[in-house]
Amino acid sequence: YSPATKTFHSLRPAVPFPPVSQPLSITAYAVSLLPNRLPSHPAFIDASTGISLSYPDLVSQIHSLASSLHSHLGISKGHVAFILSPSCLEIPILYLSLLSLGAIVTPANPAATPSELSRLIHLSGPAFFFATSSTSSKLPRHVTPILIDSPLFRSFLNSGSSLSDPIEILQSDPAAIQFSSGTTGRIKAAALPHRSFIAMTAGFHALRPSEMETTMLSAPMFHSLGFFVALKGIALAETTVVVGGAPLERIMAVAERYNVTQMTAAPPLVVGMAQSEETLRFDLSSLRRVFCGGAPLSQDAADRFQARFPLVEISQGYGSTEAGGISRMIGPEECRRGRSVGRLTENVEAKVVHHVTGKVLSVGERGELCVRGPATMLGYVGDPEANALAFDSEGWLKTGDLCYVDEDGFLYIVDRLKEMIKYKAYQVPPAELEHVLQSLPEIVDAAVVPFMYYYRYPHEEAGQIPMAFVVRQPGSNLSELEVMEFVAKQVAPYKKIRRVAFIKSIPKSAAGKVLRRELASFALCGSFSR
Ligand code: AMP
Repeated sequence: YSPATKTFHSLRPAVPFPPVSQPLSITAYAVSLLPNRLPSHPAFIDASTGISLSYPDLVSQIHSLASSLHSHLGISKGHVAFILSPSCLEIPILYLSLLSLGAIVTPANPAATPSELSRLIHLSGPAFFFATSSTSSKLPRHVTPILIDSPLFRSFLNSGSSLSDPIEILQSDPAAIQFSSGTTGRIKAAALPHRSFIAMTAGFHALRPSEMETTMLSAPMFHSLGFFVALKGIALAETTVVVGGAPLERIMAVAERYNVTQMTAAPPLVVGMAQSEETLRFDLSSLRRVFCGGAPLSQDAADRFQARFPLVEISQGYGSTEAGGISRMIGPEECRRGRSVGRLTENVEAKVVHHVTGKVLSVGERGELCVRGPATMLGYVGDPEANALAFDSEGWLKTGDLCYVDEDGFLYIVDRLKEMIKYKAYQVPPAELEHVLQSLPEIVDAAVVPFMYYYRYPHEEAGQIPMAFVVRQPGSNLSELEVMEFVAKQVAPYKKIRRVAFIKSIPKSAAGKVLRRELASFALCGSFSR
């Protein structure tokens, strides 16, 4: 902590990475970190098919695909490429080839409904679409996607060609658009530069373990966590085992089958591993490390996990779509710092600001975490209003999380100030659900808040559960079930409203802002008297 500037700096040794002035894409950087003689173990294994992808094939297919997409379809620098696909082996190849062309990788959740996708398309303005034969029907009719499970795509992967004139990419050029509601309102298109992924990859590369790792990737590749873990696996020459959206038993079977040494997991998976009897049937002796992120992990769950797997190091990391990785735990000693989310990641600066007075706070004081660093987003696309709210006048990004930093530099996230609900680590923006609810004529007003206020009374598996407070038209007999069914038809399954309470009016501030905290505490104590 520097009292002069009132900022916190990372205690980790600075990690050297190429100066920002050097033109460089994340693809070129990741490939440059690989040893000259490419590893002989697989780069990726698709656990659902058992098919693996070697490092030589990965590198040559990235080049072939980039050259084919450029010469046959004209994909080039600045084009937004919208991708709707479950996690599979083609996805990291597609990401890295698009990134090498300077195209902007824009992945969406395949669970989204067609109307949700239309909005994401409107926000990001894609020039090209990629889908699979199972997801393409969700895209608007006027769109002709390139199917990544088609013979054409396969021929692109194996064309053996390479770009005749490499495209110059600046580290400050946008690399990806990821969708997030940020601290307030509806979903937005966050643009992240190549530098963001280069900086994060450099950090992981500098501290990589000496043993060869087999990493299980269960986070979806469209989400910032899965996106980055896939890139990081290549840069660190790991084998990444892709297992998308599978039940616990299947994930454990895959861990056993491939002798997985480390896993990236959202809290529900850690909770499941700690308490389910299923887990005990599998030989997980190869597992050395579980890295948990995406949402808070309760101390209780971490303790139970440790009791069941005493030889596995369970560490937490914290970050966001907009900020990239902010903190993480490294090594057994840090992992024992209960409740902390680790120390600030190399190159990240932070300040803690009182969320009401705006005063900059010091060690041990609780306030909103603001961060600055190379991994931070460029901003929300075409949304100056949202950008003005997201950044302060000195360029600090507000995380919307309430935190403090202790004397040893460990960060503790103690609450979420922002509206965002996290159901099983997936973002559920209340504003999206309120928009849907308000389209029902029998509803006069509605507000959505998390039921079970996570930090005090977490729901073990889900974290938070979206709950709607609804004001009905006078005389309406609309039932709780009807409200839930109405919403369920229009949103992705993880965004469903799972509880409803009818009230007379939604509590609002003088300025008309919904008093979400007040509603959340009603939800908690079960008093719906308003
Ligand atoms: P996303 O942009 O979907 O990655 O969501 C980022 C948000 O998830 C953060 O701002 C936090 O509110 C929450 N989050 C992520 N990781 C953690 C963690 N380890 N502990 C507490 N909250 C977390």
